[in-house]
Amino acid sequence: PEARPLNFVETAIQEDLAAGRFTTVQTRFPPEPNGYLHIGHAKAICLNFGLAQRMNGKCNLRFDDTNPSKEETEYVDAIMDDVRWLGFQWDSLHYASDYFEQLYDWAEKLIADSKAYVCDLTPEQTREYRGTITEAGKPSPGRDRTPEENLELFRGMRAGKFPDGSKTLRAKIDMASPNLNLRDPVMYRISRAHHHRTGDTWCIYPMYDWAHGQSDSIEGISFSICTLEFENHRPLYDWFCKSLEIHHPRQIEFARLNMTYTVMSKRKLLQLVNEGHVSGWDDPRMPTICGLRRRGFTPESIRDFCDDIGVAKFISMIDTGRLENALRKHLNKVAPRRNAVLDPLKLTITNWPEGKVEMVDAINNPEDATAGTRQLPFSGSLYIEQDDFQEEAPKKFFRLKKGGAVRLRYGYILDCHDVVKDDAGNVIEVLCTYDPETKSGADTSGRKVKGTIHWVSAPHAKEIEVRQYDRLFKVENPEKNDAGGSFLDHLNEDSLKTITAVVEPSLVELKPEDRVQFERKGYFCVDKDSTAEKPVFNQIVGLRDSWAK
Ligand code: ATP
Ligand code: MG
Ligand code: MG
Repeated sequence: PEARPLNFVETAIQEDLAAGRFTTVQTRFPPEPNGYLHIGHAKAICLNFGLAQRMNGKCNLRFDDTNPSKEETEYVDAIMDDVRWLGFQWDSLHYASDYFEQLYDWAEKLIADSKAYVCDLTPEQTREYRGTITEAGKPSPGRDRTPEENLELFRGMRAGKFPDGSKTLRAKIDMASPNLNLRDPVMYRISRAHHHRTGDTWCIYPMYDWAHGQSDSIEGISFSICTLEFENHRPLYDWFCKSLEIHHPRQIEFARLNMTYTVMSKRKLLQLVNEGHVSGWDDPRMPTICGLRRRGFTPESIRDFCDDIGVAKFISMIDTGRLENALRKHLNKVAPRRNAVLDPLKLTITNWPEGKVEMVDAINNPEDATAGTRQLPFSGSLYIEQDDFQEEAPKKFFRLKKGGAVRLRYGYILDCHDVVKDDAGNVIEVLCTYDPETKSGADTSGRKVKGTIHWVSAPHAKEIEVRQYDRLFKVENPEKNDAGGSFLDHLNEDSLKTITAVVEPSLVELKPEDRVQFERKGYFCVDKDSTAEKPVFNQIVGLRDSWAK
């Protein structure tokens, strides 16, 4: 990694190491397996794994699986795939559910120390008793129970003696605290939900705040990095660690990533999937890691993007164009160039010898000398792009026009002398002659033309399906809805367009996830739906940022 100024997280870590508060950098990435990872998670992954890499530390992957009703093994597997694909390997793998027994023992310890009690309030009453920022809370009637009573009730909760939702275990902290999180937060709830790992062993489950810090502590995490929403949970995080007298990690908060023209909460992404607005979690328009992967993004470009946007303490909205630019930068270096005509117009060379096929040399990647060249078949029957031809063209139009000349990339200079039209008057074929003296690399004519266009030899062309994508939402911030509607009101109904393109023959040999640049058109990636009979490509991005003003 190149030298850059330390971000505030790194500075905080260096200070703690220098002061001897911690001796190692041990971080973790703690996803809840209730959905697929998105680009926001990629930021947290790059941050946590990146810190460990740069500071000679370790990073764990921990599934924060304490809320069984929404969690599934499918998500666990997908998350591991995504982290690996992004290029990171965890030092050890953990599940918060592995700590259920330890958490339970610690809860009994807090009860014995009069720091936790069993509460009989309903969820609504609990909320009501908690009070508001301007109004102190009221103590729960359970607050004065003795440790003995609490212990018996809590054991009863675990043993399944009480119905779901009828009791909770709460930390006994301060019902008048200005920080609502400290007003006797719930530690356990009763819920007979089947857990993807512990099955039906438990009918009480720990709340996030009770599970998270203690899981960090068990794993010897030194720096527990999380998003800003948890800043005012930090006093609670600290209170639990202090009360239990266990290893006490330092929680550091950073601003979560928000991006334009998309949504980033798993709940909303799940809704897009469930309601069929997209084809699945890996729909190439989704901001999920698997969606970006299928679209054709590279792990390198996502990591570069995360590095580029940096880590800060204030919330901001990042232009999706920046992610696309990171991808262009990478693919420009590594993507082989190929010829594809997305909107074909027939072109016939009237003086080309009947049936003759000539092989021409084409450069695979001008940015990479080691990529070499390939041979392309050239013939008297070609396809060019519709918009590379105009019958009546303005002076500044340097592509092909009637009576004009253009160079075919890797081929010859053509002079257009006529067109063929259909009954409606549309040009359906362009008739040209070629100038044999002008072959690319062996031009002896001295002729100069301003435009160069790409082409595909018609008898050798293969057809592919191309899926062209637009933004999934029509507005920069679909979650902002002053009128009180839903983010779905802003869906772009025309975000997918499917066309048939003609391409040079070598393209049909590519495999899913192979990425290429179609010359002059943009970057494309073979989709997982692709077969030898029916190749399918996704448009990843155009060559330039067409969204930039
Ligand atoms: P969501 O709101 O999308 O459901 P979450 O925070 O509930 O996200 P988790 O599975 O708990 O999802 O997230 C795992 C880690 O990723 C957490 O440490 C969280 O802070 C981080 N994270 C989630 N979303 C973002 C984001 N948009 N930007 C940066 N980090 C994020
Ligand atoms: Mg979470
Ligand atoms: Mg969430």
